[in-house]
Amino acid sequence: MGGDATMATFKCTSCGHEKEGRCKPQKCPECEGKKTFEKKE
Ligand SMILES: [Zn+2]
Repeated sequence: MGGDATMATFKCTSCGHEKEGRCKPQKCPECEGKKTFEKKE
C-alpha cells in the first residue's frame, strides 16, 4: 500500500527551497514567501 502516490515535489520560485507534499504549500518556510511554490515536474 504505497502512500506516496499522490506526493509531489514543490519548489519555491523565490528561494529555490524544495518541499514534498500532497498539496501546494501556502507559505515557504525559508523565505516566508506566500504562494511562491510551483509544482516540480
Ligand atoms: Zn522560498
